[in-house]
Amino acid sequence: MSILEIITYPDKLLRKISKPVVNIDGSLKQLIENMTETMYRAPGVGLAAIQVGIDKALLVYDIAPLEGKRCVQVLINPRIMEGEGEFLSENEGCLSVPDFKADVKRFARVLVEGLDAEGNPRRFEADGYHALVLQHEIDHINGTLFIDHISVLKRELYKRQVRKKLKKA
Ligand code: ZN
Repeated sequence: MSILEIITYPDKLLRKISKPVVNIDGSLKQLIENMTETMYRAPGVGLAAIQVGIDKALLVYDIAPLEGKRCVQVLINPRIMEGEGEFLSENEGCLSVPDFKADVKRFARVLVEGLDAEGNPRRFEADGYHALVLQHEIDHINGTLFIDHISVLKRELYKRQVRKKLKKA
């Protein structure tokens, strides 16, 4: 097991659309294990493969990562089939967008399809925080970051902050 490096904005890889997983083999299982460890270590509630630089449509999440008992969920080739209602995700953040949080408008409920770690089809509805996490992580698979959902003004503020930091480094 190893801890993987999480790439951060403005790394262009974060904009890449991940490719569907075709083989659930040993190397994919190893990647899932490493992503899981990386997520808990961060700590974060979710991690998509592209965040560790791998463009495979794969994500892991645990909506209560600090509660002691681990309950990791794995989704391969996930898609949001339907979304309804509106929910304000307050102070949303991302391991790939460090030192920034913002409110994001999300669906209140989603219907998600994908495969589990064994390749079995999964189709389920989620609401509340669970729905937010799924929308955030599935966005990553499509090359979207939560800062794409906020106002231009706020986004510019963050970009300026990043530029300043990069200059200093
Ligand atoms: Zn994220």
